[in-house]
Amino acid sequence: MTPSVVGIDLGTTYTLAAFTKDGQPTVVRDAMGNALVPSVVSFHPDGTVLVGSAARDRALSDPEHTIFSVKRLMGRTLADLQKELKLIPHQITERDAGGGRKVLTVRIGDREHTPEELSALILREVRKRAGDPTKAVITVPAYFDDVQRQATRDAGRIAGLDVLRIVNEPTAAALAYGLDNRQEGTVAVYDLGGGTFDCSILSISDGVFKVLSTNGDTYLGGDDFDRTLMQLAAREMGIDLDAKKDPQLLQALREQAEAVKIALSSRDSAEFVLNAYRRTLTRTELETLIAPLVDRSLEKCRNALRDADLRKDQIDEVVMVGGSTRVPFVRQRVAEFFGRTLHTSLNPDEVVALGAAVQADILTGGRRHMLLLDVVPLSLGLETLGGVVDKLIHRNTTVPARATTRYSTSVDGQSAILVNIYQGERELTKECRLLGTFKLAGIPPMPAGLPQVDITFLVNENGMLTVSAKEQRSGQQASVTVQAAHGLSQSEVDRMVLESVEHAHEDYQLARFVTQKIRGEADVRHTEKALAKAGHLISKEERDAIEIAKSQLQTAMGGNDVDTLVKAIEELGRVTRSLAEILMNAVVKQEFSGKSEADITGRESE
Ligand code: ADP
Ligand code: MG
Repeated sequence: MTPSVVGIDLGTTYTLAAFTKDGQPTVVRDAMGNALVPSVVSFHPDGTVLVGSAARDRALSDPEHTIFSVKRLMGRTLADLQKELKLIPHQITERDAGGGRKVLTVRIGDREHTPEELSALILREVRKRAGDPTKAVITVPAYFDDVQRQATRDAGRIAGLDVLRIVNEPTAAALAYGLDNRQEGTVAVYDLGGGTFDCSILSISDGVFKVLSTNGDTYLGGDDFDRTLMQLAAREMGIDLDAKKDPQLLQALREQAEAVKIALSSRDSAEFVLNAYRRTLTRTELETLIAPLVDRSLEKCRNALRDADLRKDQIDEVVMVGGSTRVPFVRQRVAEFFGRTLHTSLNPDEVVALGAAVQADILTGGRRHMLLLDVVPLSLGLETLGGVVDKLIHRNTTVPARATTRYSTSVDGQSAILVNIYQGERELTKECRLLGTFKLAGIPPMPAGLPQVDITFLVNENGMLTVSAKEQRSGQQASVTVQAAHGLSQSEVDRMVLESVEHAHEDYQLARFVTQKIRGEADVRHTEKALAKAGHLISKEERDAIEIAKSQLQTAMGGNDVDTLVKAIEELGRVTRSLAEILMNAVVKQEFSGKSEADITGRESE
């Protein structure tokens, strides 16, 4: 029987598919019983394209035409890839795809390939093994941003698959263990693969999953375990690993290191054999070598717990994912860390694909309906005057998520508003990433502050962002689905998150001051206008009080203390109240009292 829909774990190191039959998820295996397809593509000079182990076997004989770890390139720009470039023996360039969009390409032989196309070749291979299904659910790391998710979707489409849903890997793993059957609870998913580590914290409530937080390291995994063994052997053999003179030797060392590591997962000792070098390694020796790496992973778990606002003892279930969690020492340390028994009964390198198959089954009606919720990996907001980011949807908010805020104009007769959409944790636009821009035009001329522009951010269940703006009085509207010109690397995400923690205080003070100053400037402008129009209708005492408050506000705006500034704004608001009442209609009156900060900081059009 061939399934019509499959779940696919498109991994950095391995890719595999699974499907559900009679309610039971099963991985797709080849005649030899292998489920894992190495995520490797090799272009043979005779035109044949090899994928999987056949491609990996060519790593030594034909490295120039063989590519690994394409997942690291998905949805990225050249600027994102500084770290990776050193490790990839191919020429990677960026070409302009028009409309300001950039496309990354990898030159292999005399052809250029996009990461989407390369991933599609891997997907096509697993699709073929599964009997050519037409629909799929594909998993991605929880930290993948919009662009990386879109790139994964595109890869699926290129491979001839209708991608029903992009699902987070940790959510899939929890589903595979049927943890959705719990009424209430929290789950930690520890995923240590070949090259990457992720720790995600999920919550379950009435069978509904939410990803509360995610943390990790894009350069921590089984490859690093291998490297510690390679270094040990190289040192004892008296060769310099960094000199990289001999790729054949390097590759042989790597293969031997991995074989020894894997053997030590089930035995107490193993032989490292390379040419004349022979050495017995014990499991304890390996544990000493990898202990710092395991510590690093636990540090990330600590961060994830902190972001989820949970203590270790509040975690009910711990799910182990990724081939490297087969190492007994890893299991032992993680069990100690969380103080719980771990879920390890399913193959850790198959569990994500199994969960994707469960999700595929749910979506195609084979299972009870269930809502799967994931989170926004970085805060989303828009630029307000002064380069301050007004965050509408915060990091780790569950998707689908929607937020609306009302803005106005800051200049009389302003007919357009430019909306700049940012992603990031810092308060100022220059520290965040511009995701996209659009203009709401055609606002009929009105006094500043009168138009009511509602801006809505909507992140759908696939993590895709749509921003729309509507001017309520005129009904003018505009929207964009954010197809950012570039993605964000996790190291950048990590860095941005880290920086936001480090700079939170000073950023916040600065942002508050800038916001309040803009508000103060607008108030002074409006007060002057109001005085010119209706100053003669109020008493001299009132006029004097307004002048004093105004000059105090101007002094405060020239200073740097936000509290003084806020007080001065409030004072001007208080003394101008009767002037405002006389002069303004109900809406304009609003401009002088009780408005939220966001309402005041409308953006001027260019
Ligand atoms: P990814 O998610 O990165 O594509 P996997 O989850 O399949 O990768 O993990 C691959 C890693 O698991 C490799 O580093 C591999 O050496 C390691 N691995 C697989 N089996 C074992 C084992 N029995 N003991 C230790 N490490 C293992
Ligand atoms: Mg994986």
